[in-house]
Amino acid sequence: MTAMIRNLIGLATLAAILASAGCDYFAVHSGPDSQSDGRYLISVHAEASPLEEASANATDVDSFVDHQPNLFPDATRSRDATQQPSGTNAPPILSVTMQSGRIEGLPIGLFSDTTLLMRSNGQISYLPTHEIVSHSVTGQPFVAQGLGGMQQDLQSEFGSRYSIRYASPYLVVAKSGRIGTWCERFQKFHSSMRSYCLTYGIPLRNLDFTLIAIVFESKREFFEYARNEGSSIPSNCVGYYSQKSNRIVLFENDNPKDMDSTLETICHEATHQFAFNAGLHQRLAETPKWLMEGFAVQFEAPAYCNFTTRNHASFWPTSQRQAWDELKSDRNRLQQLFQDLIATDEPFKGDVLNAYTVSWAMNTYLSQRRGPQYVAYLRKMGSMKPFTTYSRGDRMRDFSSAFGSDISWMVREAIHHLDRMR
Ligand SMILES: [Zn+2]
Repeated sequence: MTAMIRNLIGLATLAAILASAGCDYFAVHSGPDSQSDGRYLISVHAEASPLEEASANATDVDSFVDHQPNLFPDATRSRDATQQPSGTNAPPILSVTMQSGRIEGLPIGLFSDTTLLMRSNGQISYLPTHEIVSHSVTGQPFVAQGLGGMQQDLQSEFGSRYSIRYASPYLVVAKSGRIGTWCERFQKFHSSMRSYCLTYGIPLRNLDFTLIAIVFESKREFFEYARNEGSSIPSNCVGYYSQKSNRIVLFENDNPKDMDSTLETICHEATHQFAFNAGLHQRLAETPKWLMEGFAVQFEAPAYCNFTTRNHASFWPTSQRQAWDELKSDRNRLQQLFQDLIATDEPFKGDVLNAYTVSWAMNTYLSQRRGPQYVAYLRKMGSMKPFTTYSRGDRMRDFSSAFGSDISWMVREAIHHLDRMR
């Protein structure tokens, strides 16, 4: 019971954590003034009420609260999420009877007004406490849904107008005439990112779930879907990844003028999805944005995301060139931004383009030149507990224990390294 009470924190705290952790990400076609990523799209019901009132067996719930969505870290896994074994360390699932029906999953957060369940397809369900009738522990271990079941569910969700195809590790939903192209794009991108991680010694854990990528035929359907799932996206959004659904969602953009930036967005969002599922980041934890966003921007570079010319393409993301050149000429400002990003996510609310640019530069330099330290830091961030706050002091301390505290030297080294990459 104590553990449960400890987790009955109020909604305000939950909302604050979700806001700072970043529950959904989207990238937009944008100029320097309008670039805005990392919005928080999950809304949680506002009124707090004690979970005990709806909990038939609070003691059972107690046993779950330490299980995190970083699934089965100690269990033996297969290479493919679709063949995930029911390892002995897999925690049991909770069956919750709601007013609207029964729902099963792994409890990952218990709050006074909301219970969060990780579903077997990787989605996180938010269950309002006042709608919970009863719950019980099933004794069955939590395992990821098999490929056949996922495929069937997606077909019923999207109907006969859409095809569903498996292109490991993705299940792609797209129009039948286009699905081959999209499967190829996602797979090429996936292999680019895996080889980057291999080259720089970045450890990847086996994926918890098959990755779902949805490509709508039209912009209208894309926005309708986003609205229905409660994602409030700006009108120039061309794709997003949601930590809640664990899906990437985008649409066919016929305008050849937009092709490059569309591919950049896909690679950016696919990087978020992959990083959250391969253990580089932790869903619902307060991972520093410079790490998440900078890592994703790296893969916007033509060398990773331009699938036709990438053998001779640049490792510089197009959107960062000019901003970096300007920042480089103002070393004090660059260094200040570097320091601010280590301590807080605030620069992403104001100096947005430069926040992305410096984050990209930090990730590129640190992953390529300070490999072992970067890997140790990533491991630490990948094992953060969801729903815990990560203070300014702790962020600065963790950064300097990994990389040292001579920021001025790091900035100099980063400039030198990026110049050589051109
Ligand atoms: Zn992003």
